[in-house]
Amino acid sequence: MIATFDVTDIRKDFPILNQTIHGKPLVYFDNAATTQKPLSVIEALSQYYMEFNANIHRGIHTLAERATAEYEATRDKAKDFINAAQREEIVFTRGTTEGINLVAQTYGRQNLKAGDEVIISGMEHHSNIVPWQMICEEKGATLRVIPINEQGDLLMDEYEKLLSEKTKIVAVVYVSNSLGTINPVKEIITKAHQYGAKVLIDGAQASAHLDIDVQDLDADFYVFSSHKVYGPTGVGVLYGKRELLDAMPPYQGGGEMIREVSFGKTTYNDLPYKFEAGTPNIADTVAFKAALDYVTTIGKSVIGEYEHELLTYATESLQSIDGLQIIGQAKEKISVISYVLEGIHHQDIGIMLDNDGIAVRTGHHCTQPLMDRFCILGTSRASFAMYNTKEEIDRLVQGLHKIKKKLG
Ligand code: PLP
Repeated sequence: MIATFDVTDIRKDFPILNQTIHGKPLVYFDNAATTQKPLSVIEALSQYYMEFNANIHRGIHTLAERATAEYEATRDKAKDFINAAQREEIVFTRGTTEGINLVAQTYGRQNLKAGDEVIISGMEHHSNIVPWQMICEEKGATLRVIPINEQGDLLMDEYEKLLSEKTKIVAVVYVSNSLGTINPVKEIITKAHQYGAKVLIDGAQASAHLDIDVQDLDADFYVFSSHKVYGPTGVGVLYGKRELLDAMPPYQGGGEMIREVSFGKTTYNDLPYKFEAGTPNIADTVAFKAALDYVTTIGKSVIGEYEHELLTYATESLQSIDGLQIIGQAKEKISVISYVLEGIHHQDIGIMLDNDGIAVRTGHHCTQPLMDRFCILGTSRASFAMYNTKEEIDRLVQGLHKIKKKLG
């Protein structure tokens, strides 16, 4: 582990962690659902409302100019965070889900026709399944699925077999929220491009843990949510290559996305505003920058190294529990562990761990087809962030032993 990373110091930045639940110190292991927010984000949010709350872009008064500058500064930061080439390629959305829907409903509607194919994978979150089902149904296109093996890796040979001249869009998750698998997205993109297909990467889980370089990946679209990267809820980023975004029709109509409106004809605004109709989520977008600053100051490689230590420790500790099976044992994983305990319902595990102050997620994690693949209804999932500790993992293991004794 890097000597400069001190988890005790990091934890001081997250005031929410310092509390008891049912009389026990909180252990927050639900980071794949949403991360906690550092003080700098909370302060940025309140500073916006205390000092410069105003609507952006159209105002000429001082507050409006400051709000606009801070909002646009987040765009510059987000551009650097994923190494996009131009700030015009960064569109603010409500989150990953909205980003995928935007691409399906604009690029998808414009480019798909009957007989075309869209490829997704067997480990997609529902938000990277349903929007494609909807547009495929509307256009008479077919959805194809890359299968996965028992370890939770994509079967790349099968992917290659699915690719053809009919493939128009490939939409895959970078990191699985249920299994933690890191997918070989660069290879997926290269292969899709050989057939002229465009690729959307769902970066919801990857963005807090891995260095993201959309140019190196050559991703056509990349989407992620602020709230999974220590930022506020209600904001996300859609990255798209400029020539693609330029050619796409707008997603929603309204103020801000127009250049000129008359009853006869409306012309649309330049990028990225063409895709940002109406007053956006200004406060949360402004505070999102503080989150990105926080993560980049510490450094993703440092964070990733520490989280990997937690993952290794947790994997070894959990495997020592009789009857516990880890679902998803890919070689390349982020710090997510899904598991089932023989004979005990995942929901009971969640409730009993909560009684011990431990927050885990239980259920299908919005990946029902993936649960079907493993013939289970759901799992209990512990997902670690930079502020978690090995002592907390020990508490989880003790809690699971207690549950086994009681219900097993
Ligand atoms: N994709 C993945 C892999 C996710 O884990 C999630 C959220 O859990 C989403 C998409 C949807 O993200 P949001 O709810 O922030 O739009």
